[in-house]
Amino acid sequence: MSGRLRHYVCGSTSHDLAAMFRGGAHEVRQFPSGVFLYDGAGGQRVLFDTGYAAGEWNTGWRGAVYRCLLPPKIASTDDIARQLREDGVDPVSVTHVVLSHLHPDHVGGVAHFPGATFVLTSGLQRSLHAPRLRAGILTGLFPPWFGDAATLVLDEEAFLATEVAGVPIRAADLLGDGSYLILDLPGHADGHVGAVIEGRVLIAGDAGWGRDLLGAADDLRALPRAVQHDYAEYTRTAVRLQEIAAAGVHIVCSHDPLVEKELLS
Ligand SMILES: [Zn+2]
Repeated sequence: MSGRLRHYVCGSTSHDLAAMFRGGAHEVRQFPSGVFLYDGAGGQRVLFDTGYAAGEWNTGWRGAVYRCLLPPKIASTDDIARQLREDGVDPVSVTHVVLSHLHPDHVGGVAHFPGATFVLTSGLQRSLHAPRLRAGILTGLFPPWFGDAATLVLDEEAFLATEVAGVPIRAADLLGDGSYLILDLPGHADGHVGAVIEGRVLIAGDAGWGRDLLGAADDLRALPRAVQHDYAEYTRTAVRLQEIAAAGVHIVCSHDPLVEKELLS
C-alpha cells in the first residue's frame, strides 16, 4: 500500500490542564482541531472529520453555551475546503467523509462535501436523530441536505473482532483492502470511532485529549468526566490505545499539535 495521509488544523481551543486533570500542572495548552485526508492507492479520498466551521454558526442558545464553555479560535483560513484547495485538492474529489463523532469541532466543514459518502456509526445516527443536551450536538452546524446525503452506516455487525499490533479491537474495513480500518473506540461519544491507516497510523479522534494524555484518563476532573458518553468505556479505550502505542503504532489524537503534515512518509 502506498497512500498519502495529510493533516490539517481547522481551528483550535485552549484549556488549562490543571482545570481538566487532577494533579495536572498549570499549563494552558492549545488544542488544534485536526482533519486527516487519506489518498488511497485505489483512487479513493477519505477525509477523517471536518474541523470547526469558519464563519457564522446558526446554532442558537446551545451554540452560545458551547462557545462559552469551550471557546473556539477560528480564522477564515482554518476552513477545511479552503485548505484543501490551497493544497491542490478539489473538495469535490473527496469520496468519503468519516465522522469520528458529531461534536462541533469535528463536523463544522460537513457542508463542503455534498457529494461525498458520509461514514457514520449507528450510535452517531442515534444521537443525531435524538440529540440530548449532554451529547453536545449542534444540529444547526449540519447543512439542510445532510439528511439526504449518501451515507454508509456501520452498525454493530459491521465491526469485526480483529487485532491492531496484537491488541484485540473491533474494526470495519472501509475500502475492502485493509488500508483503512474504522475502529470502534467507545466512551467519548455514542458511536465514537477512530481509524487505522495502512496499519501504521492510528487516528484516535477524541479518545484522549492528546496522545500524551491517554495515561491521565483516570484523572479527568468532574466536568470533563461528566461530558463523556460512558466514562468507564473511555478509560478502557485509553488503556487499549496505550497498549497499541507501546507496540509501535503511531497514534494521533484529533487535538494533538502535530509538527508533521505528511503522516505516512
Ligand atoms: Zn468530542
